[in-house]
Amino acid sequence: MILILLGPPGAGKGTQAKRLVDRLNIPQLSTGDMLRAAAAAGTEIGRKAKAVMDAGGLVSDEIVIGIIGERIEEEDARGGFILDGFPRTVTQAESLDRLLTERGLKLDRVIELKVDEEALIARIEKRVAETVAAGGSVRADDNPASFRVRLEAYRTLTAPVSAYYAKSDRLRGVDGMAEVDAVAAQIDAALA
Ligand code: ADP
Repeated sequence: MILILLGPPGAGKGTQAKRLVDRLNIPQLSTGDMLRAAAAAGTEIGRKAKAVMDAGGLVSDEIVIGIIGERIEEEDARGGFILDGFPRTVTQAESLDRLLTERGLKLDRVIELKVDEEALIARIEKRVAETVAAGGSVRADDNPASFRVRLEAYRTLTAPVSAYYAKSDRLRGVDGMAEVDAVAAQIDAALA
């Protein structure tokens, strides 16, 4: 199964992706995690991406398409994968279609988590407070200024991606405001 989790920052994509990894036994491919790992490792791509990410902007299509193109070649992705945070632009969605077609693969489903913006800001504030309380380190882009930029990038660049998938009837919307288990149940129903 190849599926995409779509939704604004803080919508719960990561939480739902982790549950799906266990349920479907396929890996979660998070471009955000991959870019943060590259930044932490200090690779050339990581260094380029870090400043953009910290400010809340989107890393170039070329970089993330390259990363995903390599990642889906890996052994563990043979039986399918869950894309979390990719594609984030229509250009990325078109490239993904090409990458899959070239490999004889097909996208099964796009699940869009629908949430309202007020709730997103509250969720991010909660995530930061919990991380601090647990003694963890807060993501450099989890601050009000960067978060506004991330939401704006979502509205202008990523929202059109859902229209792109609606055209081919692969898109299913779920209510991301519900409890975690209820969202999970809706996703399972959408995949059935
Ligand atoms: P969130 O969904 O909470 O915004 P992510 O971990 O998915 O967090 O992404 C963090 C940052 O990584 C983004 O704000 C962006 O800078 C960069 N990023 C992740 N995925 C992509 C992508 N597909 N295209 C461009 N930039 C990306």
